[in-house]
Amino acid sequence: MKLDAVMDIQTSSRSELVDITDRVRAIVKESRTENGLCVISTRHTTCGIIINENERGLKKDILGMLEALIPEDRSYAHNQIDHNAHSHLRAVLLGTSESIPIEGGHLILGTWQSIFFVELDGPRNRTVNVKIIGS
Ligand code: ZN
Repeated sequence: MKLDAVMDIQTSSRSELVDITDRVRAIVKESRTENGLCVISTRHTTCGIIINENERGLKKDILGMLEALIPEDRSYAHNQIDHNAHSHLRAVLLGTSESIPIEGGHLILGTWQSIFFVELDGPRNRTVNVKIIGS
């Protein structure tokens, strides 16, 4: 069994975490895959895919950490052609994909784990690819 799905996401802020766990779970369920691997990836260069806890304070802290590590108002070479070097650099830290095992038809995630699409240069229309490999 193989399945490819594309998820559309409309973000509403410059930076935000969008919980896509339920949508990924629905794709896994629809695929009827019992055992395999689910790969969640994005083709954008100013977004990330991460797994962590969906708690309001923590989501603020994650964005705050990215702002502290990579401030927007620093001098970056990329800003000579575009004005979003900080967005690209923050995306580099997060990575663009996550892979999660599927067992017994379910994603193997911990109780407090959620899958997030992280917007770093919004608001925009974005896409996330979900590929399922298994049987
Ligand atoms: Zn750019």
